[in-house]
Amino acid sequence: QARLLMPLMALMRVALDLQTSKALFARIFEYLDMVPAIQDAPDAITVAEAPGPIGRVEFEDVVFRYPDAAADARPTLDGVSFVAEHGQHVAFVGPSGAGKTTVLYLAPRLYEASEGRVLFAGADVKTLTQESIVDHIGIVSQETYLFHATIGENLRYAKPDATDAELEAACAAANIHHIIAGFEHGYDTVVGERGYRLSGGEKQRIAIARVLLKDPPVLLLDEATSALDTVSERVVQEALEAAASGRTTLSIAHRLSTVIGADMIHVVDAGRIVESGTHADLLARGGLYAELAAEQMAAARIEGMDAAMPAPL
Ligand code: ADP
Ligand code: MG
Repeated sequence: QARLLMPLMALMRVALDLQTSKALFARIFEYLDMVPAIQDAPDAITVAEAPGPIGRVEFEDVVFRYPDAAADARPTLDGVSFVAEHGQHVAFVGPSGAGKTTVLYLAPRLYEASEGRVLFAGADVKTLTQESIVDHIGIVSQETYLFHATIGENLRYAKPDATDAELEAACAAANIHHIIAGFEHGYDTVVGERGYRLSGGEKQRIAIARVLLKDPPVLLLDEATSALDTVSERVVQEALEAAASGRTTLSIAHRLSTVIGADMIHVVDAGRIVESGTHADLLARGGLYAELAAEQMAAARIEGMDAAMPAPL
């Protein structure tokens, strides 16, 4: 299987950069099957040729229906507008099924808006080559996919010519180097199906190391809902902060700790942004965000001060 890896990667250049997520990876294959539906325009330009600052992401009144949705169903996204300026951290919170993950799918044009526009670096993503968009985006998702290959190989998807020192520096910043270094075979340890089983928190930190190696201007972060133990949560949180620093970050947060420092928090409910502001703004507003925050804090108190926050925010 590892032998098949290199030609497969060469063939699917788009998939290469999105392999951090099993769900997105599956989505890529769907995408490849439906190439006639989402295809680069004949005169498509690259992100480098786009008019705006690289790292700016904007949604303009985006309405979106999944292709297989019933014709009379309410759209999954129903008039979503926001701007993430270069280097900003913009967070999305809200109940499960609200449409948060869908927002992250539309930014790299894995799906296209039914109405409205998604802009990347000031250009409508429909006018950009998808490959150049993907080149500028890193993803840390709920489910990190690792190939049955060595840890080193899994990391080098992000940067094929990375030196060993670069791998180690990225893993140190992602709080995972000390764990890998403790393995008998270090970075040559085979992981993935039938390989050494890393924990969810460890896999997530490998995904973070990949982002640090790739060094993209935009980071999409779909935070794990699964309760990590307190120690893992803290080290993952630190690693995420390292990964988000200096990039535009669109994050879906399930823990208050992740959104408190965000430049802007959008509360999504039933496909619409219903409240926007900083953590302090939204608490003061006393709306849905304040409600979700209160629920989380009550749950955390029950579990003890140090407990992972279990309620999905
Ligand atoms: P969230 O991340 O806020 O929990 P999602 O963006 O994952 O919400 O989902 C929003 C809605 O879109 C849900 O009702 C979900 O069932 C639906 N949905 C998600 N993915 C698909 C898909 N591939 N096809 C059809 N509907 C989908
Ligand atoms: Mg989601």
